[in-house]
Amino acid sequence: MTFEEFNIDERLLEAISYMHFEKASPIQEKAIPVAMEGNDVLACAQTGTGKTATFLIPILQDLVTNGAHGFTSLIVVPTRELAIQIDQELQGFSYFTDTTSKAVYGGDKGMDWDEQKRALTEGTNVVVATPGRLIAHLRLGYVKCNNIRHLVLDEADRMLDMGFIDDIRQILGYIPKKRQTMMFSATMAPEIRKLANSILVEPQMISIAIAKPAEGVKQSAYMAHPYQKIDLITHILAQNPDYDSILIFTSTKKLIHSIVNSIHNHIKGVTVEGISSDFEQNEREEVLLRFKAKQTRILVATDVLSRGIDIKGINLVINFDVPRDAADYVHRVGRTARADAKGEAITFISEADIPKFVRIETLIEKSVEKLPLPQELGEAPIWKIPAEKSKKRFYGKRKNGKRNFFRRKSDKENSKKGNPKQ
Ligand code: ADP
Ligand code: MG
Repeated sequence: MTFEEFNIDERLLEAISYMHFEKASPIQEKAIPVAMEGNDVLACAQTGTGKTATFLIPILQDLVTNGAHGFTSLIVVPTRELAIQIDQELQGFSYFTDTTSKAVYGGDKGMDWDEQKRALTEGTNVVVATPGRLIAHLRLGYVKCNNIRHLVLDEADRMLDMGFIDDIRQILGYIPKKRQTMMFSATMAPEIRKLANSILVEPQMISIAIAKPAEGVKQSAYMAHPYQKIDLITHILAQNPDYDSILIFTSTKKLIHSIVNSIHNHIKGVTVEGISSDFEQNEREEVLLRFKAKQTRILVATDVLSRGIDIKGINLVINFDVPRDAADYVHRVGRTARADAKGEAITFISEADIPKFVRIETLIEKSVEKLPLPQELGEAPIWKIPAEKSKKRFYGKRKNGKRNFFRRKSDKENSKKGNPKQ
């Protein structure tokens, strides 16, 4: 389906074609018409499937056809990077219109604050904001919210994970009840449905397949001890000299620095940088820019980057360790092969990470090929699926809706003592 078929304004169509969007993606095809009718929407589709345009186009269409007075549209997102990225995409789509927009997020410079305050008081139409900073402005009372008629919660699953639920409820208290609300998520966890039930009115549910890495990603894994991992990266780089954009993920912020240093010291002539939520905002932006511009070949990052951030042309994602949350694997791997391109994802699995990787394979309904470790790296740990009994401990029985973690332990103790109580 082409964008012309949506019956959208010429000015938007022109911008869409400048952005080289030709065919609508499946989520766009399903959700854009529904959203253009003004319905509340709950949309679930994996990362990289074009959810941003799915809400931006209907919002802009409404603003250009029905007029935009002051602050009309609020998009709430979990991270600063995502706020900036969505605002950039928004500027692209609205290029031929009079719509104004601003990204509002926490930073370290007072300058940002004043600029954001001006945008919020002077009636910028579309605001893309992170929850904390937005609330800080709202509390000071100068933000006129009575014209808001669109609310988007993007990456709703991530916002819940990051504990933003109370912030979201606070924000809801400031904006008109009569509005169009759209919620986007990569996963449809029960908590997402619960939140949707409480804030959406007769929503149209649109869901595209379950969260699985895009078809274009070649996934594989190596069993490796932690001390073998840097040499393994050397091996992978030697095998793929044409890969000029490589993203390495680790779950541990503290490891970033040492991974960057080891790569720098062990692999000659390779450009490598690290990024995490500990970095100052401007530092993060600069590192990202250099990576996007392919001045840096390897970027080492935590999961902050794995959701939403869109960098084109990443050839390879390496999971230096296995993410704790299986959904994070899908998000990490989704950084490569965006919108139908090809890409590769390689995961390093240590012995301790095996149970986590088993959960990932269950989620993606696929067994990932385990490649043999190159001989010169020595003996690899053995891939062995943990026995059932360790699983049981994980899914301890629920009592009053809460997991009762202590039950099994005390049972065990009782049985050790020969069950004195029975
Ligand atoms: P999501 O929010 O679902 O993770 P994004 O909205 O960030 O995905 O889109 C992923 C990438 O695909 C972006 O680079 C975006 O510009 C591009 N994209 C989205 N829709 C289309 C389309 N219809 N045609 C071409 N590229 C698209
Ligand atoms: Mg997105």
